[in-house]
Amino acid sequence: MDFRSELVGSFSEGSNGNPTIAMIEAAFAHHGMNWRYVNCEVPPDQLEAAVKGALAMGWRGFNLSIPHKVAVIPLLDGLGESAEMMGAVNCVVIRDGRMIGENTDGMGFLTSLRQVVDPQGKRIVMFGAGGAARAIGVELALAGAAAITVVNRSAARGAPLVDLLNRKTATRCTLAIWQAGHRLPEATDIVVNATSVGLGNGDQPLDIATDSLTERMVVADVIVDPPDTRFLRDARARGCRVIDGLGMLINQGVIGVKLWTGLEADAGVMRRRLEQIFKA
Ligand code: NDP
Repeated sequence: MDFRSELVGSFSEGSNGNPTIAMIEAAFAHHGMNWRYVNCEVPPDQLEAAVKGALAMGWRGFNLSIPHKVAVIPLLDGLGESAEMMGAVNCVVIRDGRMIGENTDGMGFLTSLRQVVDPQGKRIVMFGAGGAARAIGVELALAGAAAITVVNRSAARGAPLVDLLNRKTATRCTLAIWQAGHRLPEATDIVVNATSVGLGNGDQPLDIATDSLTERMVVADVIVDPPDTRFLRDARARGCRVIDGLGMLINQGVIGVKLWTGLEADAGVMRRRLEQIFKA
């Protein structure tokens, strides 16, 4: 018998709304691992103490969510390539007392996308320019996307993202300020909703001309709750292949578990647990 579990977890505010614990603990149980994931409510002024506490207690790593993804960086010993480029960390790995920050949000999206299409050489339209869009944009560009058009309401967030991608990657990026009924160019291969439109409201439409969606396009949404968004239903009705936000969430969990434990977790077990929760 071994009465001491290996510990990982999450530090965020609003932690009671974060379902990550459910899918990761389902994976640990399925694989018979003596590991636990602890979901912690941590206010900004306690982040440093929480990080030092995790190190002191021999935690193997932790996730970070709102509002800690940027603030944690000065507390770490190093960053992975995409975390460095994004300037945001959502997953820390502790090895031999050193804390390395990674960003698995975009990698999770990419893994989910690649199950349907490889973004290399593709023309992409991405709605949104917040944290999720930043992570996805960087990974799509690093994966060799030919062109990304970022469509956002405000230039305040859109312009710095486009500038980052043009400076640091070989992908051609342009900003389009979102006008009502935005039309997708015919040559678009992949369309991504990386805004919060649809969160908590499965009937909220994305403000686009749905007749500009064609069956040559792969359409992905980041929204998890509910996973079957109005945008995805509209895209499916136009003959597009669609990818829901659960894929991104599950795959960033799979990548986190692999980084912490070395284990390739069963993504199907994690999806079934989330589908139970969201009744997809
Ligand atoms: P942010 O607050 O950083 O960014 C929100 C983005 O949505 C901005 O680009 C904002 O535009 C845009 N937006 C918000 N409301 C509207 C609207 N009514 N019309 C048009 N654009 C709008 O949020 P995040 O990027 O962190 O998160 C976005 C979504 O992604 C959330 O729903 C989150 O739950 C989801 N997510 C899913 C993950 C997964 O694993 N599936 C992982 C991470 C996030 P503007 O700049 O003009 O305000």
